[in-house]
Amino acid sequence: MSVFASKGYDDHEAVLFYNDTTSGLKAIIAVHDTTLGPSLGGTRMWPYASDDEALEDVLRLSRGMTFKSALAGLNLGGGKSVIIANSHKDKSEALFKAFGKAVDSLNGQYIAAEDVGIGVSDLEIARQVTPHISGISEGNVGNPSPATAWGVFNGLKAAVHYRLKREDLSGVTVAVQGLGQVGYGLCRHLKDAGAQLVVADIYDQSVNRAVQELGAKAVSVKDILSQDVDVLAPCALGAILNDDTIPTLKAKVVAGAANNQLAESKHGAMLRNRNILYAPDYAINAGGIIIISHEGPLFDRKSAMDQVAGIYNTALRIFERADQDNRPTAEVADMLAMERIASVKAKKAESSKMKLTG
Ligand code: NAD
Repeated sequence: MSVFASKGYDDHEAVLFYNDTTSGLKAIIAVHDTTLGPSLGGTRMWPYASDDEALEDVLRLSRGMTFKSALAGLNLGGGKSVIIANSHKDKSEALFKAFGKAVDSLNGQYIAAEDVGIGVSDLEIARQVTPHISGISEGNVGNPSPATAWGVFNGLKAAVHYRLKREDLSGVTVAVQGLGQVGYGLCRHLKDAGAQLVVADIYDQSVNRAVQELGAKAVSVKDILSQDVDVLAPCALGAILNDDTIPTLKAKVVAGAANNQLAESKHGAMLRNRNILYAPDYAINAGGIIIISHEGPLFDRKSAMDQVAGIYNTALRIFERADQDNRPTAEVADMLAMERIASVKAKKAESSKMKLTG
C-alpha cells in the first residue's frame, strides 16, 4: 500500500492508521485540509475488500469534506474516517471506545460524525472517551441525516426547476438508489411533494418498507441506475457515475446524497455532453454538516434547517455558472470552493507577514 502515490492523495495534512487487537478495530482517519477550521467529517463502517480500497475511500471522502464545507460557507476543514468492518455484524462497545480513543489522539484536529453504517448510538459510545464527536443528542443536533435529506431534496428541486423547467415535483419520476438514513428521508420528502418513486437497495427489508409506506416501485439493484425516469438520486456509495453507467442513464437530472458519485473528474464532462444535469454531490449533501455547524447550547433547529434549504440557491448558482462558462457543474463547484479556501489562505499569510514585520 502506498499513501503518497495513491490516486486519492491530494496533499492531505495527515493520514493515520489505527489497529486495536483487543476490540478488532481497524480504522483510518484522514485530515485533508484545516485552512478553514478543524476537520469534520463522518465515519464510515464498511467491509472493504482490501486496505487499499479503504485508504482510497477515506482520502477521497476527506477531500470532499474540505470542498463541501468551503462551498457551504462553513468555518470547517475536511476530514473523514473509515472503520474496516461489517456494520451488520461487527459492532461492539469495545470497538467504538477504541475508535473514540483514535479520534481523541488527534486533539480536535478531526471531529467525527455519522456516515454509512454508523448511527448516533455508535458515536455516543465513542463520545465517552473523547469530546471530538458531533451529531449526537448531547449537542442537540442528533443524527444529521434528516438535515442531509432535506438539503438533497432542495438541491434536487433546484435541478428539476433548472433542467425540466418545473416549479414543483408533482408527477416527476425519481429513481432512488439506496434507502438508508438519507435515501429513505429523501423518499419521504419526494413523496410528500407528489413525486413518483422507483427504488432499490441491497436489503429487501428497506425496499419493502418503501413499497408499503410510500407506494414506491421496486426494481433490482442492477437496474436502478438505468431507469427511464426524470431524476436519478444516488444515495448509496460513490463512483457509480462512470464509463460503464453514464451511457446507460436515461434520467435528465442526477441529484443524490452519495459522496463522490463521479468515478473520475472526466465523468462530469461526460454527463454534460449527454445533456444530463448533475447536481454536484457535496454541494447538495451539505445539510448534515451545516446542521452540525450549529451545534451548541444556542442550537436553533429552525434557523439551521433554513440555512440547509439555501442549498437550493447554491445549486442554482452552480448550474447558471456552468452554462455561462460551458463547464461541467462539478468543476464549477470545485472552483467556487477553492476560491474561498485560497482567499482565507491569502488572508492568513498576509496577517502572519504583518505579525513578523510589525
Ligand atoms: P446508510 O448506510 O444509512 O444507507 C446506505 C444505503 O445504501 C443502505 O441501505 C445500503 O443497503 C444501500 N446500498 C449500498 N450499496 C447499494 C447498492 N449497490 N444498491 C442499492 N443500495 C445500496 O448511509 P446514509 O447515511 O444514508 O448515506 C448515504 C450516502 O450519502 C453515502 O454515500 C454517504 O456518504 C452520503 N452522505 C450521508 C450523509 C449523512 O448525513 N448521513 C451526509 C452526506 C453524505
